[in-house]
Order: sequence, then structure tokens, then C-alpha cells
Amino acid sequence: MSTPSFQWPDGRRVAVSLSFDDARLSQVDRGLPILDAHGVKATFYVSFSSLEKRLEGWRRAAASGHEIGNHTVTHPCSGNFRFARSNALEDYTLERMEKELTDASDRIERLLGVRPRTFAYPCGQKFVGRGENVRSYVPLIARHFVVGRGFLDETHNSPVWSDLAQATGVEFDGTSFEKLQARIDQAAGDGGWLILAGHEIGDDGRQTVLASTLDALCRHARQPSSGIWLDTVAAIGSYVLARRART
Ligand SMILES: [Zn+2]
Repeated sequence: MSTPSFQWPDGRRVAVSLSFDDARLSQVDRGLPILDAHGVKATFYVSFSSLEKRLEGWRRAAASGHEIGNHTVTHPCSGNFRFARSNALEDYTLERMEKELTDASDRIERLLGVRPRTFAYPCGQKFVGRGENVRSYVPLIARHFVVGRGFLDETHNSPVWSDLAQATGVEFDGTSFEKLQARIDQAAGDGGWLILAGHEIGDDGRQTVLASTLDALCRHARQPSSGIWLDTVAAIGSYVLARRART
């Protein structure tokens, strides 16, 4: 099968999205000022307990064009994570998961005035049930969202091939700018879409995107010579879909 050609807008060679999970407080306190200083829009997959601690900040972020995405209401993951054992994916059904998804979108719309168009799988896990009764919940995501983003994936997305309901998300936490640049170069060589997925934003610590890396990446991406289209998951995902529909 020949690979159809695919072009990013304005002759860009690669697409990059910055995404952050769980509405960690440092995203508002530390991250948004950096992003806003560069005029860069990012995607935030929010959790409600922490979102409500910075509600005004999130309202401003949503109103100014940052994307707010769905990350469920209760963040179910495998019970192999102790924190998830009382709310484990192994004990879920597809019906219960679908309710999680719509409840989370309704709540975001009520709190922030925007309805999520994309989703991030909590812990990157895409199943409910156990053993012979395991079901994938990817089809639910395909039904309700433009994009579903994974976590700790190994590669970027191919715009001609990727199933957007299970788009890859590559680790952003703790990564140096040099390492990211290598990742972006690799994606550019392939005309790909790199979605970075992180948590806290600060100077060090666990699950933390380094503020210096974020600042350097935004600065770099805004130079036209970088060939980077830096935009939200929803913006790039919608472009991919529209472009595919035309070929
Ligand atoms: Zn999460």
C-alpha cells in the first residue's frame, strides 16, 4: 500500500502538542505564565479536586484558548496502583466508564464553560474488566472525542496512520530540552505529530516538567525556522481528520 502524502499547514515539518494531566496546582502557578509569555496554547486533562483549588486560573486559561480535556471524574487505573484499588479498572464495566466520561465533560462545561473535545487515558490504560471479560474502552473514546491520548508511549503519531482514539503520548516529565529536540527531529523526519504528556511544572521533583525545558521549547518552536507547528491536541487532531477526509 502506498502511503498518501500529508502536509502540515504553512510548510511546517512536524506538529507538537504540549499536554499536562491532573490539573496539578503548579500548572496554573508556574506553567501558564511561561506558556502565556510565549503565546503558546497547551492542553490540560483536568482532575476536579485540584481544578477546584485554582478555579479562577483555569477559567482564565480556558477563556484564553488553552484546551481543557477530559480525564474522567475519578481517575480509574489498574488496582496494581494502590491508590486506584478501590476504584480499579478491573472492577469497571463499559457502561460505568461511559458515565464517567459524560459526567466529566458535563462538569467541565459547567465549571469552565467549554466542552472537552479530547481525552487522556488515566495511567494510559485503555481497558475495563479482567481476564476473559476484559473490554477495550477505546471505542467509547472514539465515539465521544476527536482524540484519546495515551501515556509513556514510545513514538510519535503518524498523521496518515494513527488511530486518533489511541494517539500516543510521550513522556515530558524530567526530560531535557536536548532530548526533546532529538525526539522532535525524529518526528520531523517522518512528518509526524509528537504529543508530550507531563504533570507538575517546576525546577525538579517527581513527575515534573522542567520549567527551563518548557521555556526553551516554547522559544524554539516559535521560530519559523524550527518547522514546528505547536498547538493543542484538539487543534492538530481536527486538522488531521479534516485533511484525511479530503484525500
Ligand atoms: Zn492522570
